[in-house]
Formats: sequence, structure tokens, C-alpha cells
Amino acid sequence: MTHHDELRPDTLAVHAGMTRNEFQAVVPPIYQTSTFGFTSTGEGAALFAGEQKGYIYSRMGNPTVEGLENAVAALEGGSRALACSSGMAAIHTALAALLKSGDHVVCSEAVYGPTCTLVSGILTQFGIEASLVDTSSLEAVRAALRQNTKVVFVETPCNPTLLISDLEQVSKLAHGRGAHVLVDNTFMSPLLQRPFEFGVDVVLHSLTKFLNGHADVVGGVIVTRDQEMYARMRRALNHYGGVLAPFESFLVHRGIKTLALRMERHCRNAQAIAEFLEARPEVKWVRYPGLKSHPQHELAKRQMKGPGGMISFELAGGLEAGRAMMNSVKLCSLAVSLGGVETLIQHPASMTHASMGAEARQRAHISDGLVRLSVGVEDVADLIADLDQSLKVAARVRPGARVVPEQAVG
Ligand SMILES: *Cc1c(COP(=O)(O)O)cnc(C)c1O
Repeated sequence: MTHHDELRPDTLAVHAGMTRNEFQAVVPPIYQTSTFGFTSTGEGAALFAGEQKGYIYSRMGNPTVEGLENAVAALEGGSRALACSSGMAAIHTALAALLKSGDHVVCSEAVYGPTCTLVSGILTQFGIEASLVDTSSLEAVRAALRQNTKVVFVETPCNPTLLISDLEQVSKLAHGRGAHVLVDNTFMSPLLQRPFEFGVDVVLHSLTKFLNGHADVVGGVIVTRDQEMYARMRRALNHYGGVLAPFESFLVHRGIKTLALRMERHCRNAQAIAEFLEARPEVKWVRYPGLKSHPQHELAKRQMKGPGGMISFELAGGLEAGRAMMNSVKLCSLAVSLGGVETLIQHPASMTHASMGAEARQRAHISDGLVRLSVGVEDVADLIADLDQSLKVAARVRPGARVVPEQAVG
């Protein structure tokens, strides 16, 4: 793996994690097996004792899965990675590996909805205390840290408000109190943001999103930078059991080969669409890190290599106008998830962030009228034409009014 240190990220996306195999196949084989034979009892014992390297059983390690893990670790500039059966499995495994009863976790208040529920509604059942704060405010992070804070969990840009947390400063604050910093890097992918460069301890991804990129796999990954943290995470994953299967690993690894091409197009399309939306009278506000109007545009430029493919906005006509727009798109799909080649539109308050509850949403500034767009890699002119026709439908809606069907309008 060492020669990878000299390769640039776009090259790593194509080559990292490729292992030699018997027939020199250019694409690594799928080792669709649950278990691996031992040549002798001695070898079996040596493998279990960790005295010999090799494979035992696919929950504990599998060459196809390991190829994907090595690819993600190289892209993040970490040392090792652990592929998990979903992004939530990765988040749960990482938190459970680091926290015990009586510990405290600080978490971004605007995060992926189920992360919020896991931290504030499920881990609390095990005696783990949680504070959800605006981690884009260093004051709020400082005020939330306690004697027993063991983890600061940050999502940046956060979902769906796209506020940005300063990873270097948050890491300094947390490390000053002996807490580990975990970053959900799903919205950026390793090509747009490498949290380890800012002192973060563990990086997490939902592989389901940009890394796989084709909306056909659910998966997650934990990336570590030192051996001790890796061993702690591997032990947790091995016993909680949420590992990724070989075939899923193969698909994600294949997706990663085009990550650089895709991220470039996601950023270019999203920038054009954000500017288009911002200029429209039907739109009240647009939040996108690539816009000068983003409150942390300068921090975005410093910390991120590109503004990404995610946009949030609200229509002047509020929730009803937003619903009318989402119901009238033809090329964009009304669906949750993000980071795939196809453009998706959704309504966080009733969909991805419904489980958070109205009060938590309000605190995190997730308004009922907020619409989230995951911009795909289509021709941007086709996307803008679709958004244009759906905005025209939405413009006919008055706040509180029912949606007027298109054919009824003269
Ligand atoms: C989707 C997502 C997750 C959860 O991933 P799954 O693969 O759906 O379990 C976590 N964080 C972010 C930011 C996400 O977008």
C-alpha cells in the first residue's frame, strides 16, 4: 500500500485496493464464500491467534471486502477501513466501540435523521448522555463539552441545512478535553473533503451515497488512522456483526473507480442549479456552499475541495408551493437518499427528518418548507428545464392553498 502515498486522489480512485489474483484479472474477483479452509489445525490455530495473516470466516474478513476497505482508506488518507452493512451500522458500531454507560456524546443538531434518533433516543437507553448542538458554532461546542464527553460527532456540511463545522477548531476543542472526533463525510466523499487532514480521529461514510454512486447498494464504512483505533473498531464490528457482503463490496468498489468524474459533474451541475434557483422570484432562499450567500462560503473554500452535489432551498410560497413543485417534477425523482447519478428531490420535514420530531427540527432550523435536492450527473440543461416547469406549477400555489392541477389552469 505504501506506493499509494504518492498517487493523487483521482488515480487512487481507479487503482486503490486492487489486489493481485491468480489469473491477473484486472477486476478483482468476488470471493462469495462464508468460510475459508485451513491446511492444518496448526494453521487454523495460528490464524485465530493472529500469528499468521489470512482469512478465517467472512464476518471477520474477506478479500473482496478488504479490497474495498483498502480503497476507501487510501482515498481518505487513513490507515485502515471497515466496511459495514449500512451507513447506520457504521455509525452505530463506531459509537458503541467508544462509548459506555455514563459517557457523554456531543452531536451536530442538524444531522442525518436516524443519526439524531440513534444518539438522542437509543444510545440514551444504555446510559449514554447526548447533547445536540450547532457544531458550526465553536461557542456551542465549547459550552457543550463536559468532564465525561468522550465523543464529538460532526456532520459537515450537515443534512439538510448545509451548515459547515470547522473541523480543525472542533478537533482542537474536543482533543483538549480528551474526546474523540468522529466525522460523517458522506455529503463530500473523500475527494472533496479529507477530515484526517484537520485532526479528526475517525471518518464515516454511508457507502450508499456518493461512494457507490449508482443507487443500487446499501452500505457504510468506518475509516481509522491508527492501529489501536482500528483494532477497537474491528472488535466491535466483529461482535455487533453488521458487516458488508462480498457482492455489495464489489459493486461499491466498482462505483469508486468513477468517483472523481462523478464528483466533478455533481459540483458543476449543482453550482449551476443553485445559481438558477437563487435568481428565481419563486424561491425564498437557497443554501449551497458554492454560493457567496452561504454564511460560511469562505470556510467552505478552505476546508472543502468543492461545494458538492447537495442543495437546500425554500419557495416563497412555503410548504404548499414546495409540495406542488415536488409533485410536478418529471426528470428529477421524488425519493430520499442522495449521491447517485440521478437527481433526487425530497421533503426533509415529512421524510428523512420526520423521526426527529417538530421541536428538534425547529431547533436545527429545518423548516417545514425546506426542499432538498441531490443533483445528479445528467445534462444540467435538462435538469434546469425540469425545475423551471415545476417552479411555474408551484408559483400558482398561494400559501395554505391547495395545489391547482396543471390542466385546470388556462
Ligand atoms: C444516508 C446517510 C446515512 C445513513 O446511511 P445508510 O447507508 O442509509 O444507513 C448517514 N449519514 C448521512 C449523511 C447520510 O446521508
